[in-house]
Amino acid sequence: MLVQGKKVLLTGGSRGIGRALVLGYLREGASVWYLGRSRGGDEYEGAAREQGLRVVFRECDVADEEALGAAAKDAMKEAGGFDVLVNNAGITRDGLSLRMAMKDWHDVIATNLTAAFVLSKLVVQDMFMKKIPGAVVNISSIVGVTGNGGQVNYSASKAGLIGLTKSLAREVAPRNIRVNAVAPGFIRTAMTDRLTEDQKKALAAQIPMVRLGEPEDVARAALFLSCDLSSYITGHVLHVTGGLGM
Ligand code: NAP
Repeated sequence: MLVQGKKVLLTGGSRGIGRALVLGYLREGASVWYLGRSRGGDEYEGAAREQGLRVVFRECDVADEEALGAAAKDAMKEAGGFDVLVNNAGITRDGLSLRMAMKDWHDVIATNLTAAFVLSKLVVQDMFMKKIPGAVVNISSIVGVTGNGGQVNYSASKAGLIGLTKSLAREVAPRNIRVNAVAPGFIRTAMTDRLTEDQKKALAAQIPMVRLGEPEDVARAALFLSCDLSSYITGHVLHVTGGLGM
């Protein structure tokens, strides 16, 4: 088991990549606390029980800094500290730059970037104090590397997350805390479900592996970056894109 006995805090565990993360960490032996606006399926409790592990949901809107801080502190107190933090919650509010409402800019930056900073600050400080050799994994996106028309807010938030990852990685590396990012390409979740079948086919045609990714493809990369298999890797951005954007 890759993360046996570890405690993981993650955001946005209700569905999609977050669901694959919760089930992936449980399968590999970790207890999971997840923060979000809605809870995941009953399957989580079943998977935890099978392994004698815990899965705990704390309701909060990660874009609300105060609520996020309170929920994280509550979870840290209950868990007694986390070995792994995964900043996964994210939204899109697409539109062309020249027509983009400022609310769509601020909502995306608050959810995708500021929340990751708020949470990393709290959890990493706790790792410092408890001398935990921790791992932070930020779920960025390939469009944070390449840019994408119609997604100036989303791309900026995901590029910001990469800057945050590399800067924080430099600051905490001497304490044996590693900070990495995963940059998924197009993954089959609610976020991409709104595309038509024709749009999905056109997208797949641009991907060297000629298919969209699955949430589990991303969860496996996050697991790798959270465990000892990646013990000498920090400040890295791992593309999980089927070759898109290489
Ligand atoms: P998704 O199915 O839409 O899930 C998003 C998750 O984030 C949900 O659990 C949602 O929970 C949570 N969330 C959103 N806003 C929140 C808020 N304000 N407070 C708390 N939780 C919030 O999307 P996904 O595809 O799994 O995306 C997961 C991450 O991967 C995101 O950061 C996304 O940007 C990134 N990503 C996805 C793709 C892709 O192709 N799917 C590609 C690259 C990167 P509730 O709505 O239940 O609160």
